Amino acid sequence: MYDLVIIGDGPAGISAGIYAVRYGLDTLILEKDVISGQIALTDIVENYPGFSSIAGMELMDKFKEHAQEAGVTTEDGEVLNIKSDGDKKIISTDEGEIEAKAVIIATGANPQHLGVPGEEEFAGRGVSYCATCDGPFFRGKNVAVIGGGDSAITDALILSNLASKVYVVHRRDELRATKVLKDRAFSRNNIEFICDTILDEVLGDGSVEKVILKNVKSGDTVEMAMDGVFIYVGVVPNTGFVDVDKTGAGFIITSDRMETSVEGIYAAGDCRVTPLRQVVTAVSDGAIAAASAHEFVSEG
Ligand code: NAP
Repeated sequence: MYDLVIIGDGPAGISAGIYAVRYGLDTLILEKDVISGQIALTDIVENYPGFSSIAGMELMDKFKEHAQEAGVTTEDGEVLNIKSDGDKKIISTDEGEIEAKAVIIATGANPQHLGVPGEEEFAGRGVSYCATCDGPFFRGKNVAVIGGGDSAITDALILSNLASKVYVVHRRDELRATKVLKDRAFSRNNIEFICDTILDEVLGDGSVEKVILKNVKSGDTVEMAMDGVFIYVGVVPNTGFVDVDKTGAGFIITSDRMETSVEGIYAAGDCRVTPLRQVVTAVSDGAIAAASAHEFVSEG
């Protein structure tokens, strides 16, 4: 039986692993995908202290190298559920069962889908959730970016270096994104902002050819020729496998010590209720969760 099993190998999970090993806990990190967290899909990170500009993938590689050097063990496995049995937790994965005294959930979140007609039909054929991954397919083309937060504007900037024209379609007349990103986007002459507008439908024949946009104030719709649609309307937490208290949207409710409603189960990073979903807050959550798990295991 492990002292601690950490589910997820993004920034929160890796940070928890480094701290846990240094506390002397026998620790295993379970990873589901080769890509570790949303940060690995982020083009450039400019707000993680110590790195004024670093590719998301490179930062993640550095985290993993550090964890390996610290002695963290990782294994592949998708967690299906977690059950409490007396003092132990039984973690069922697609590979079998693992027992641990404590568990940290650091499974992050995935892009929210809009649910408009054509979105699923054209996913991977013009509809995308990641400019870093798919942007190069749209060199010299016209693309729409849906959303007004940091993700939308970060990826609109990436796309503006590739596409000939980027339309940012936002449901309000004010962007949610931080000032530094907004200012950068406003200064690009191939980014056009379409405000008070939502995506109503994606149309095409085999791949995206057109979008229908709807003005939320007037109700008017307009059809525009478009080669790609990049959607950034928030995130959905990966928490369906665990039975702890969550919000209606599925974010895990924790104390400021990262404790969930079940003793011995902690949550860290984007999968929990938090005011800010950043690398720096995820790694901080991971450290706190490891400290709490260490205290729990030592007292047990
Ligand atoms: P977000 O901040 O929640 O923004 C989501 C955007 O989508 C908002 O503009 C929202 O509009 C819009 N939206 C939501 N539902 C919609 C719908 N049904 N139809 C149309 N528009 C809709 O999400 P995010 O941009 O993915 O960012 C998530 C977190 O990651 C944030 O904490 C962000 O700061 C962080 N992040 C940081 C960076 C960076 O620092 N470089 C990069 C990416 C993400 P409203 O504004 O009207 O609500």
